[in-house]
Amino acid sequence: MKKKKLTTAAGRPYFENEDSMTAGPRGPVLLQDYYLHEKLAHFNRERIPERVVHAKGTGAFGTFTVTGDITKYTRARLFSKVGNKCRVFVRFSTVGGEKGSADTERDPRGFAVKFYTEEGNWDLVGNNTPVFFIKDAKKFPDFIHTQKRDPKTNLKSDTMQWDFWSLNPESLHQLMTLFSDRGTPDGYRFMNGYGSHTFSMYNKKNERVWVKFHFKTQQGNKTLTRQQAEEIKGKDPDYSQRDLVNAIAGKDYPKWTLKIQVMTDAQAKKFKWNPFDVTKVWPHKEFPLIEAGVMELNEIPENYFADVEQAAFAPAHTVDGIGLSPDKMLQGRIFAYPDAHRYRLGANYQQIPVNRPIAPVSHHQRDGHMTVDGNQGSGPNYFPNSFDNIEADKNYREAAMALDSDVADYFDRNKNDNDHYSQAGALFRKVMTDQERANTVGNLVCALKGVSGPKKKEILMRQLEHFHKADKELAQLVAKGLGIKFPRAK
Ligand code: NDP
Repeated sequence: MKKKKLTTAAGRPYFENEDSMTAGPRGPVLLQDYYLHEKLAHFNRERIPERVVHAKGTGAFGTFTVTGDITKYTRARLFSKVGNKCRVFVRFSTVGGEKGSADTERDPRGFAVKFYTEEGNWDLVGNNTPVFFIKDAKKFPDFIHTQKRDPKTNLKSDTMQWDFWSLNPESLHQLMTLFSDRGTPDGYRFMNGYGSHTFSMYNKKNERVWVKFHFKTQQGNKTLTRQQAEEIKGKDPDYSQRDLVNAIAGKDYPKWTLKIQVMTDAQAKKFKWNPFDVTKVWPHKEFPLIEAGVMELNEIPENYFADVEQAAFAPAHTVDGIGLSPDKMLQGRIFAYPDAHRYRLGANYQQIPVNRPIAPVSHHQRDGHMTVDGNQGSGPNYFPNSFDNIEADKNYREAAMALDSDVADYFDRNKNDNDHYSQAGALFRKVMTDQERANTVGNLVCALKGVSGPKKKEILMRQLEHFHKADKELAQLVAKGLGIKFPRAK
């Protein structure tokens, strides 16, 4: 390999990398050893704030290819022709654990995809679960606090978690997924990804439909039992990262099929549940999956920090033809994600190579920490102006959403808004096999056994009540596993 000269960060070739400059052979060290200062000072600044959620993650680049014609729903340039391709970057993660935590923890898995399209970056920032614990972003900090550490003991706390969940019945559907073996996938390749929220698409005629996104793993869903996950935690905390890196290094490139579900406005008004409630799915029989494309991951970034740690995904990053919805949780995330990136990475986080669009960028935002893209040169930094010809193109205007008077009002009056039980029960009764049901009950019992303290009975009884409303047998099996009497038995 060709030899390279050691240099300072300013590029000056330097002669010494191990011994500090001293007065005489035994020291003391001279203040003028600027190479030493540079080395120590930069080291002190190596860490940027850890993500509050999704801190432990791994990423890969790949390709997305359009395989299904969905032009009647969307005018997005990416989907304009079957065969269109674009580069993607994906970051998988766990949610609650710190940056060094174990990959096989029971936790949802983040499944965030950045599509570098010709008309800007489209981020689909989802999870491996189609639903979520809460349906309003206002609850998010409270919920996440229960997943992190107790303020006094600095320990994770089952009591905190179940206290919150039992007081938030809307969590139940997600809990049934989390405590099934899907809560411990056998690595990132073997799980589905979901956009989870309801999004929208609009076509060339500006007609809007509501849309859900599903990435179906082509590797098949593979899960770990509680016991396997626990054992791997000790043996190889980086199990999922290792699996992905090794597979791609061995050219065994993982693939997912992207499918969409489509709901018209008329269907939304008649839907049994609020279609913008992220704790609910849209049944496949009513809203069949429509194939849109295939994603293949085939490249591990050359530098983890540069691309994975600095990756910044945001549900606010949509492209023309793909829109938002009134989903309250989504609306909160539209604000929270870019806000987190501005805090972690700075106002110019979209100039970092992994976040930089391939599409041309022209606007009048300027300056700020770490401006590294030329800052749009000598162009004017105000609008309107007589010089740069940048104009807002009205052709990109999207259709208005009929909300307050129609949709939102309707759902406020919908009694099924508080039905947190039907879909959770259906998952347990109709979708799971006998073995999956038994494992789910075992996993729930194991976690609920961790509840302690003066409120233990109250919390357990409250949670059993929710299980009962979803499925009577589920409540009885969990109560039996806990060795407690649940009065609703008779
Ligand atoms: P379907 O029978 O058409 O679909 C069931 C879905 O459940 C499949 O997508 C399957 O994924 C997935 N699944 C299987 N086991 C589990 C598990 N342990 N945890 C989470 N998901 C699992 O049913 P419906 O569409 O009528 O929905 C019935 C229930 O299935 C819902 O209440 C919901 O809990 C769950 N579900 C529904 C989804 C939807 O978008 N409709 C998506 C995921 C779950 P796969 O095909 O990859 O095996």
